[in-house]
Amino acid sequence: MYKLVAPITDASKSYGIAVSTIRDKGRRKLFDTASPIVDSQCKQFDKLAANLSFHRARGSSFDVAGLASNDMSLLYDPQFSKRKGTENLRDSIRNAAPNSLCPYCGEGTVAQIDHYLPKESYAGISVHPANLVPACADCNHAKQSYAPDSSKPAVLHPYFDTAFGIKWLSATVEEGEIGRPVVKYNIDSDLLNLQLRSRLIAHMDVFKLWSRFSIWAGQSLDNFGSYLKHEHGQAMDILEARDHLERTALQQSGGRINSWEGAAHTAMRESDWYLSTYLGLT
Ligand SMILES: [Zn+2]
Repeated sequence: MYKLVAPITDASKSYGIAVSTIRDKGRRKLFDTASPIVDSQCKQFDKLAANLSFHRARGSSFDVAGLASNDMSLLYDPQFSKRKGTENLRDSIRNAAPNSLCPYCGEGTVAQIDHYLPKESYAGISVHPANLVPACADCNHAKQSYAPDSSKPAVLHPYFDTAFGIKWLSATVEEGEIGRPVVKYNIDSDLLNLQLRSRLIAHMDVFKLWSRFSIWAGQSLDNFGSYLKHEHGQAMDILEARDHLERTALQQSGGRINSWEGAAHTAMRESDWYLSTYLGLT
């Protein structure tokens, strides 16, 4: 999970480019007529983003200039998502993610563009760049049409949230079935901002990150076990193992303080059961 730089193209420019790819002149005119309402809905989204209050968003069906929600969905797909004229815009959104890493999970490869607020209920912002986030297929699929409201906290928005700069993800190594270690993820209990805490839990829930991180961390456990067995032999004592895991926690996190991999290596380093009992280090 990490922060992205927001797209520089503003909402009205993006809308204009998408509309310009519509071939039928009469239909294009309808979208031009709806433009001020679209602009105002995009500005409302920008306000929510500035205050990080996406839970106050109120979705509704679109009904302007004879255009309904489904027409605005069609403006996204096929106009925005497939036409040559919007290719640069799409690329700028996808390429904002360094190394094509999905900002929602920090591990998957960017394959799609996610509507942060779903276009089904927020049709007026279907081509607003600030509502379009590059995502991996698993995150996009897990999120589906999740829409925050007063009882459903918003997931983190990679362009606007500041929680990416606070360390809140941690992990522990526990004894799982048949005595094998398993990494379990937590949100640091000393995080006192309860509203933020509920959003972080929602982020982990919606993207199924508790289990996805735990599965990926199984590879970290295997890799370290294999490193001890094949590359370093049993010569490593427990202090050296802890030093090694401290270094790999830093290396593997790639500078992201809420990296699942960094948290896994730290948990491995801190677990007496894992190092002494399971691996037999002394
Ligand atoms: Zn992802």
